[in-house]
Amino acid sequence: MKCPFCGYEKTKVIDSRQSEGKKRRRRECPQCGKRYTTYEVVEKPTLLVIKKGGGFEPFDRSKLIAGIMSACKKRVISPETVEGIVDGIENRLQNEMRTEVTTSELGDNVLTALKDIDLVAYVRFASVYKDFNDLDSFIRIIRELNK
Ligand SMILES: [Zn+2]
Repeated sequence: MKCPFCGYEKTKVIDSRQSEGKKRRRRECPQCGKRYTTYEVVEKPTLLVIKKGGGFEPFDRSKLIAGIMSACKKRVISPETVEGIVDGIENRLQNEMRTEVTTSELGDNVLTALKDIDLVAYVRFASVYKDFNDLDSFIRIIRELNK
């Protein structure tokens, strides 16, 4: 960071605080002694989850974790594993600079991850998120698993 007054290459940060998603840094030039403030905005696109009915809500990490956790009840799956699944999904969406994701895409992502971890949890999660209301769709999932 160059000093805007004398162009000196280095500055000293004398104060740093976070306000409204911005990092505010008070800087001082070691050469001319002048002080100035810089703002750093962390760019993290807000991810919206498009719901089945058409509405949307901000992506809620803890909600997704809770959903997976309940599918993993009494299974040997550590909370770290569940966090890892959500981290993986979140990172991928962020890397793609996505601002929207549908609940069904989120659900499919979770299912893909659970498939390799625990089949019981997989079927449980599928039964919740796919809203099984008939036996046929449930059987279809089991058949797909057997392939
Ligand atoms: Zn200076």
